[in-house]
Amino acid sequence: MVKIPGPIKNTLLAFLNLIYPKRCQGCGLALHYKSKFYLCKKCFKKIKINRPPFCIKCGRHIYGSADLASICGKCINSKYNFDGGFFCCDYEGLIKELIRKFKYNYKKYLTHLFDELLVNFTENYININTIDMIVPVPLHRGKLQQRGFDQSLLLSKNLAKVFKLPLVYNILRRGRDTEQQTRLNKNERLNNVKGAFFIKPPRRFKFPGIHFNLCGCKPPNRLKLPWVHYNQRGDKDKKMFDKKRILLIDDVATTAATANECAAVLKMAGAKSVYLLTLAKGV
Ligand SMILES: [Zn+2]
Ligand SMILES: [Zn+2]
Repeated sequence: MVKIPGPIKNTLLAFLNLIYPKRCQGCGLALHYKSKFYLCKKCFKKIKINRPPFCIKCGRHIYGSADLASICGKCINSKYNFDGGFFCCDYEGLIKELIRKFKYNYKKYLTHLFDELLVNFTENYININTIDMIVPVPLHRGKLQQRGFDQSLLLSKNLAKVFKLPLVYNILRRGRDTEQQTRLNKNERLNNVKGAFFIKPPRRFKFPGIHFNLCGCKPPNRLKLPWVHYNQRGDKDKKMFDKKRILLIDDVATTAATANECAAVLKMAGAKSVYLLTLAKGV
């Protein structure tokens, strides 16, 4: 492929931006062609980042005075299979609109904004040294075909790259396409995802962009990701999660029923701890 030199590329992009300007996805304002996040400064500031003190179970902000081991009102009687949850923003207002655009209208360019939010949040509030690997909540194959991309995997890729952690994908799998959770209540959500996940290493990995093998061979140069390498199905492969401290990634959690079920499966596979990080959480 012919590589266009930087200055020429910039001129072309600036010219293109005159005809077809980048627009703020919040208010529609025309943006500079180099704007990465597709949001103007004013709209960016509208995103309310979740700040401490956090509930140690679900990650919700606790209002009023709270110590480091506080539990929010909603979690007092709740039990989760994961060891702690974190989320960047509440699933409401502008961020809700943007996530919906990202997921259902195929606005993949919003990934840069979400990556920024996740990386900043992780840097500030998560002790990444206590994490061994990143695992995205899997998407069912049918949904992947329908949507064209896996949003949790996209978000996980950048985190794995920035924090130099292995990204383990396609081993924790979704066995059935669970009904969309939005219209269900808490108990229905729990039942809906029960038994939906399982662990099965792939015989041969074919997804573009990521490569798994345990054979120790080098990844192709185009892959800049830290990687876990898979070769064949066997006992060794099944122990992938054994004694590992996992950061589970999803775009949105509401009752965290999906993450809870994933965490149960990962724990059964020997995971030492499972923490959940989502971009947003329904309130
Ligand atoms: Zn704006
Ligand atoms: Zn809580």
